[in-house]
Amino acid sequence: MAGPLTPFIHFINPLNWHWKDVIYGADVHKSMAIHCIKDQSFESNIYLVTGDRPVLIDTGTGRMIGPIMSRLRELVDISTLDRIVLTHRHYDHVGGARDLSDRLEAKVFMHEADSEPVRNGDDQGTLANEFLDSVEPLDVIDVREGEVISTGEHDLRVIHTPGHTIGSICLFDDSNRALISGDTLFVGSVGRWDLPTGDIRLLKSSLLRLKDLGAESLYPGHGPFVEDGAKHQIEIGLRYLGV
Ligand SMILES: [Zn+2]
Ligand SMILES: [Zn+2]
Repeated sequence: MAGPLTPFIHFINPLNWHWKDVIYGADVHKSMAIHCIKDQSFESNIYLVTGDRPVLIDTGTGRMIGPIMSRLRELVDISTLDRIVLTHRHYDHVGGARDLSDRLEAKVFMHEADSEPVRNGDDQGTLANEFLDSVEPLDVIDVREGEVISTGEHDLRVIHTPGHTIGSICLFDDSNRALISGDTLFVGSVGRWDLPTGDIRLLKSSLLRLKDLGAESLYPGHGPFVEDGAKHQIEIGLRYLGV
């Protein structure tokens, strides 16, 4: 069992390949901007959770598959990497899923309330059209609240957190108190609620649920992560929403 100080979650930001740059060079103020889906250079963060059966969380837009595959080969035996979890339906997270799942021969999992547009290759439902791109239909396996995705070393519990999209999920590692939050919560901000299926009231109640988890580290879908103070970040998010 890895201790809490072991870097079991690898942070892969397709726009920044240097681990130390990500930790020490992150521009905190920039990260406080609200997630902007129309930014052409936008790529989601990608996380690799290690274990006998590692899991990849989110895939970016798919425009940087080569470097992502190289990085994954450095980090794990990719023959064991056969599962991808998508935090929600948006193109900046799912755009690379088809190509990566083909190359890794990986199954793809996401919440049942967000899976339909991805399964159908729906450019509007995934917002691929906003990026002047398109998505191919993809086989995805539905997951629901409370299901546990285990890497052998880490159990990631699915927490349904609608608000940014209706099928957004967070993943929580209870034993390490690590929260992977997708676009529900960022360091210093929250995800947009004004896109299709977004809902500010649901986002508020989702953040209130997250507050009770006892999370310490926070790994968001964009911007930097923090290894402590996750609860404080949730409180900042709630204040941002006027709660
Ligand atoms: Zn995003
Ligand atoms: Zn999003």
